[in-house]
Amino acid sequence: MAEKRKPSKKKPAAKRPRRKKPAKKKIQPEEEILFRVEGKMSTFGGPKDTGMSTDEGLALFTPADLQDSKYSYLFLPTPPPGTTGLGRRLNPDKYYFACRWNYNDTPREFLKRALARVENPSNGRAADARPVDWGPNIATGRVADLSPGLAAALGLQTDDLVRITISALRAIPVKPAKRANVAKPPAGVSRPATPARPALKQFVRSPNCSSRQMGTKIDKIVLHCTEESLASALAEFQRSDARKVSAHYVIDRNGDIYQMVNDRDCANHCMGANHGSIGIEHVGSETDSLAAPQAAASAALIRGLLQEHQIPRTNIFGHDFTPGYSRPGGISCPDKLFGPVHSQATIAAWVAANVRNQQKQNRAA
Ligand SMILES: [Zn+2]
Repeated sequence: MAEKRKPSKKKPAAKRPRRKKPAKKKIQPEEEILFRVEGKMSTFGGPKDTGMSTDEGLALFTPADLQDSKYSYLFLPTPPPGTTGLGRRLNPDKYYFACRWNYNDTPREFLKRALARVENPSNGRAADARPVDWGPNIATGRVADLSPGLAAALGLQTDDLVRITISALRAIPVKPAKRANVAKPPAGVSRPATPARPALKQFVRSPNCSSRQMGTKIDKIVLHCTEESLASALAEFQRSDARKVSAHYVIDRNGDIYQMVNDRDCANHCMGANHGSIGIEHVGSETDSLAAPQAAASAALIRGLLQEHQIPRTNIFGHDFTPGYSRPGGISCPDKLFGPVHSQATIAAWVAANVRNQQKQNRAA
């Protein structure tokens, strides 16, 4: 939702995930398991982990990665007092982990882009998490160290059993797809020559928008949950007397796409990050997941927007995880639409599974 009611910042209750089938009817390739381990776990990282020295780094990351929005969310904005290493700077609430990698099988650069499925076999809870380090030492008898937040979400205590899987489909491309050099008309102008954009059901203009600041490039897509019905969302975004919120697109549960603000204009959907972003609202309640036709429409719209505005596929964010988003306390949006766990890793996994045609198309072009 665009800056709705008081944010209910509930802790993600990692529920048993339903194995979500991609909405497209395309035949998916068999998922190839690249790494799997099961055994005892412990926790590590963050300001309170005195088991790590103050200057201890991470095997997979360097300080330069702090500048990269794909990774910076894993870290605290500033080093905890008295520390210089990335280990203590990890944000213990984020979902990360360490295993004893064999870099011949899973090279560092692959691991940096990978999303792993981390499961608690005893209660069926699972979440997506990012590899960040090598460890624990084999002498511990454990196979993995998890972030305190991840362990808590899965209901795991030190020396409980954990299962971790990385499959080939879960890697996140680090670089945007290489594109042919085509002349670009101004953003927002319709381009009949451009394929991919799904048809709009209707353009319902919202007055709650402004011109983008001069020279602002559209470089990200922000995904929202309306937390209200289609009719309420369309009505709210057309009101200029209240909170003046809006979004570029609203996608109904049946897949109908309504546009309310031109791409070239700035909508009011993500405080602090409106100027470089396109906002897509998905009709749903706080507990809904995406409906299948809605997911297909969203993936198609996102593919079209990525191509048209040359937005890197890694710059698709859930509202609460958008770089620059500045509302104090955060927000529960996009709720559980893209997966049961409130995390950017959930969004990235959904994108990886559903918005993956672009490179293929470009390669074919
Ligand atoms: Zn939102």
